[in-house]
Amino acid sequence: MNRQGLLIVISGPSGAGKGTVCQRLLQRNQDLCLSVSCTTRPPRPGEQEGINYFFVDRPTFEQMIANNQLLEYARVYDNYYGTPLNYVQEKLAAGRDVILEIDIQGALQVKQKYPQGVLIFLVPPSLSLLKERLIKRGTDSPESIAGRLRCVYDELTNTGRYDYLVINDTVENAVDQIESIIKAEKCRPSRFNFDLREFLAC
Ligand code: 5GP
Repeated sequence: MNRQGLLIVISGPSGAGKGTVCQRLLQRNQDLCLSVSCTTRPPRPGEQEGINYFFVDRPTFEQMIANNQLLEYARVYDNYYGTPLNYVQEKLAAGRDVILEIDIQGALQVKQKYPQGVLIFLVPPSLSLLKERLIKRGTDSPESIAGRLRCVYDELTNTGRYDYLVINDTVENAVDQIESIIKAEKCRPSRFNFDLREFLAC
């Protein structure tokens, strides 16, 4: 039974814990692949080329847009971010499940281009916890944190456009729920490309 892999999109406000949840998901499911995005944002301390992002300058990013090399892209907090198309296409065609950790604008573009994609919105249990996480992370300036918090209300109005909502109260709970979603999605009849009558006749 030759099945296309599942494309799983995870979005949520900055500080919702997307990065940690995705890393734990990958540790627990070694057959999952994570797409590494391109960005024009400068690397933060400790971030590595090709691991966290492919860091490119703006002309290079604009060339990638012009060459249709991106599955989706968006401008987030004054920088461009985008998903390289080739990697995703190759993995899905090989039957591998691919995770994209991207913002809402990008997620909605993916759903439009690839309706079989599964959109998951990750939220923290409360806004105060979100603020606390952003401060503790220590990677953003106070202005940047304030900007990210201002975006949260807008972002939350989009939850209804997602297929699933997961509350990140603990990382293990959130990962359990995402694994359940993946399992259930794989049982959708539309994802089986075989003839059921032929199969049952064997
Ligand atoms: P950060 O600067 O904190 O790494 O990411 C900022 C935002 O950009 C996050 O919401 C993250 O999910 C989003 N993002 C990261 N990569 C991509 C991408 O390839 N496409 C889009 N649309 N958003 C992305």
